[in-house]
Amino acid sequence: MTREDDCLFCKIVAGDIPSEIVYEDDRVLAFKDISPMMPVHVLVIPKEHYSSIDADIAPEDASALMEAVSKVAHDQGIAESGYRVITNVGDDACQSVHHLHLHVLGGEKMNDGDPSVR
Ligand code: AMP
Ligand code: ZN
Repeated sequence: MTREDDCLFCKIVAGDIPSEIVYEDDRVLAFKDISPMMPVHVLVIPKEHYSSIDADIAPEDASALMEAVSKVAHDQGIAESGYRVITNVGDDACQSVHHLHLHVLGGEKMNDGDPSVR
């Protein structure tokens, strides 16, 4: 497993920083966002360090992430009501943690307009 020393989410994967884990398997960790924007706000991350979805992601990690999103949505009770999956890449998208993470958001009706508003 590649680990970046200064990466917050690598530290969460290693257990050096506590998190509220809601799902874990060999490749993926999912935990509650520390400042939730919605009633359900979970971050789904690969355990392997990738800077963003724009990195060269191993197919096994990509598929594990997709499967984990759906498992998390079902476990969190938002699969039927609906949810949104967002991943920020780079400056214009205000990516603040440079370890690939998928925001899984739900539990409340969201806007259907401006894609820049989450
Ligand atoms: P982004 O702006 O897409 O890079 O998202 C980073 C997310 O990580 C934000 O929604 C933060 O609230 C969240 N975050 C930062 N630190 C932690 C932490 N220690 N535990 C859980 N979530 C965090
Ligand atoms: Zn990392």
